[in-house]
Amino acid sequence: MALQKKKTPMKEQAPEERIKNFKEVPFGYSDNEAVVEAERCLQCKHQPCVEGCPVHVPIPQFIQAVIDGDVVEANQIIKSKNNLPAVCGRVCPQEEQCEDVCVMGIKNEPVAIGRLERYVADYNMERGTDSTSAEEIEKMKVPELEGRKVAVIGAGPAGLTAAADLAKYGLEVTIFEALHETGGVLRYGIPEFRLPKAIVDQEVEAIKELGVDIQLNVVVGKSITVDELFEKGYESLFIGVGAGLPRFLNIPGENLNGVYSANEFLTRVNLMKAFKYPEYKTPVVVKDKVAVVGAGNVAMDAARTAKRLGAEDVYIVYRRAEEQMPARSEEIHHAREEGIEFKLLNNPVAIHGKEGRVSQMECQQMELGEKDDSGRRRPIPIEGSNWMLDLDTVIIAIGQNPNPLLTSNTKDLKTKSWGGIEVNEDQQTSREGVYAGGDVVTGAATVIKAMGAGKTAAENIKNYLLEKSKK
Ligand code: FAD
Ligand code: SF4
Ligand code: SF4
Repeated sequence: MALQKKKTPMKEQAPEERIKNFKEVPFGYSDNEAVVEAERCLQCKHQPCVEGCPVHVPIPQFIQAVIDGDVVEANQIIKSKNNLPAVCGRVCPQEEQCEDVCVMGIKNEPVAIGRLERYVADYNMERGTDSTSAEEIEKMKVPELEGRKVAVIGAGPAGLTAAADLAKYGLEVTIFEALHETGGVLRYGIPEFRLPKAIVDQEVEAIKELGVDIQLNVVVGKSITVDELFEKGYESLFIGVGAGLPRFLNIPGENLNGVYSANEFLTRVNLMKAFKYPEYKTPVVVKDKVAVVGAGNVAMDAARTAKRLGAEDVYIVYRRAEEQMPARSEEIHHAREEGIEFKLLNNPVAIHGKEGRVSQMECQQMELGEKDDSGRRRPIPIEGSNWMLDLDTVIIAIGQNPNPLLTSNTKDLKTKSWGGIEVNEDQQTSREGVYAGGDVVTGAATVIKAMGAGKTAAENIKNYLLEKSKK
């Protein structure tokens, strides 16, 4: 039989239906669709896809297990490298990672690795077979480390991944998390219609089963310091506190009522359950006309959320052009289908208000010039092109930096000019025994890159503790 050239499509809610609810958009593969897709894999000997994955999931091996009908085994194969497969199968930018280097993708569409990973993870969650196997845990155990204490700061993807691997080595691991819920951006940033909270809950539960203790409502740097953690007997620390401090445009009118940072807007919706409206009354006021400034994943999430909260007209306002939008193409496609309007090559220069609330945003048209340091063509303002967009809400989604609370209260921890923690290739910071990874090191990046850093750090913490005990 000839190989299917395109990915097996995944069924999803129709746009006109889904803008009225917060339920997940794609439904996932059926058993049959998963096998059809798995059979597209060429089982390449040199496995470039595995190198393309920052945590090195054994992709051809798990796909073969799907073909063989052993989906429980497929899950164990994935879990040997990835502790959050149901999350990654949904939100990984696969097109830039494993699928980007898939051999099938040279002449046809690549194998839908992410969709298959999601299928395997969901299949096992539904049947209660998603725990890491006892053999796998036994295989990773390092007897000399058993019972020694390490602390992980932050329960986002970087911290959860580091904690899971450290626990598998036999260490006693405690995560300290500032918020009252786990997951970091997976819970308070990415909306329910892309990543259901129940999925995050179940994957965090599986990490707790490895013996990881999670202490919520502890802000390290304020409730307890890094020095105090060492004094309490933690021999090494991993910092994965993310980049939760929003950047602003610094234009007139940003302090008007109706202007939110995307971070605040999405956190309110996700943590205060505005997505369960009308069961929970949302504390976010979204009226008819909403502009989101920026064109990354965060901007698409904010725009699609505003639409679901009842806004009539939702605009993405972005100073560069279509091909420079940083969001995943799938998110841009979904946003367009849902009626989000794109005002590209437009830069906001002021927000105007009436009686203290936003009424208009003044935009200036731009054209593209030479490439700048980021390798993208620089947007240049067109003189005399200012125009007004009628609005009642503005959401700023132009990036985030790390919150300086922990770094400014921790001695001997070197940071970069923008607040990121400096690390070497082992994820080790300037302070002995302290490792860091994820957005707090790279700036806003991706879930899988944060997980990759957590994994590297865990391995090096293990080596550090083994060396330390020889001294
Ligand atoms: P975080 O997820 O930010 O977690 C850090 C954790 O540390 C948080 O729980 C925080 O409360 C806690 N913390 C902070 N300070 C302290 C302290 N002092 N003490 C204790 N705990 C502390 N990436 C993708 O790959 N795909 C996507 O589709 C995608 N969409 C996104 C959509 C949105 C709206 C946002 C905001 C980001 C998105 N990203 C996406 C990026 C991705 O979520 C992040 O790169 C990733 O979550 C970083 O992981 P992290 O563990 O470093 O940090
Ligand atoms: Fe691909 Fe992400 Fe899965 Fe790795 S974790 S195989 S990059 S989808
Ligand atoms: Fe299969 Fe693509 Fe990996 Fe080859 S590169 S083994 S086709 S997933």
